[in-house]
Amino acid sequence: MSALRKETVLSVRHWTDSLFSFTATRDPGFRFQNGQFAMIGLEVDGRPLLRAYSMASANHEDVLEFFSIKVPEGPLTSKLQKIESGDTILVGQKATGTLITGNLLPGKRLLLLSTGTGLAPFASLIKDPEIYENFETVILAHGCRQVSELAYGEQLVASLENDELFGPMIEGKLIYYPTVTREPFRNRGRITDLIASQSLFRDICQPPLNIETDRIMLCGSPAMLEDLHNIFLSDGFKEGNHSEPGHFVIEKAFVER
Ligand SMILES: Cc1cc2nc3c(=O)[nH]c(=O)nc-3n(C[C@H](O)[C@H](O)[C@H](O)COP(=O)(O)OP(=O)(O)OC[C@H]3O[C@@H](n4cnc5c(N)ncnc54)[C@H](O)[C@@H]3O)c2cc1C
Repeated sequence: MSALRKETVLSVRHWTDSLFSFTATRDPGFRFQNGQFAMIGLEVDGRPLLRAYSMASANHEDVLEFFSIKVPEGPLTSKLQKIESGDTILVGQKATGTLITGNLLPGKRLLLLSTGTGLAPFASLIKDPEIYENFETVILAHGCRQVSELAYGEQLVASLENDELFGPMIEGKLIYYPTVTREPFRNRGRITDLIASQSLFRDICQPPLNIETDRIMLCGSPAMLEDLHNIFLSDGFKEGNHSEPGHFVIEKAFVER
């Protein structure tokens, strides 16, 4: 319990029946790298009920932000989805995770490939000025079933584009590629298929996947990660970690229980 701090919920926004985001106060002593996750949760019957959550806010921001699923019978999110501003959440003070630029070899193009709430660590990373210094191009792909599930990412990217400071920094560098599988939309299909067929690159008028220039971060469902992992390995890409940087890094957006 000693490594947990109580923080106050500042705002909550419900995006769909199954997705919401919220902000909370941040202890100035809570340090993290953009792309990392921490254990957060609620006190239930006098005990902490915690789950892994990626910080969707960047480490230069004063408040914390999280982008969350609502699992109807989920031990944590059945309760967490009811939080309101002024409520207390618990935030573990140790941040960790593999989705950090230090685990990647130097490159020219950064691919951030996500499904569902796997967008959260990339919401943090695309607010990091350093990635625009380290990479010439940053592609953020986000796959969902329904168009409504894209709203958090769409609004985030639009707010960065319209930001006085960020707008000029990301102009021509950040390419946002939302795609859905179950409804008509300008981009259709699973990220896995769009990468395997290279149509993602054709759609955004970018050169095809290239091991010399491309560095990749993956965060999504276990099935999406397994498929992409296999595609990249068969193309000769090497997975990076804390001891040895590689061409790509992986984080699960959730585990099947
Ligand atoms: C490294 C890591 C980072 C994570 N970051 C986030 C995050 O930023 N936002 C977030 O909402 N969740 C995140 N999760 C998942 C989170 O830890 C919990 O699983 C989630 O909050 C549900 O908690 P629960 O207690 O309600 O249900 P659980 O008992 O944890 O999960 C029940 C079932 O719900 C499904 N499920 C759980 N989480 C998700 C999800 N995010 N998307 C789709 N299906 C899911 C799975 O099938 C799981 O078996 C992360 C998980 C890991 C391992």
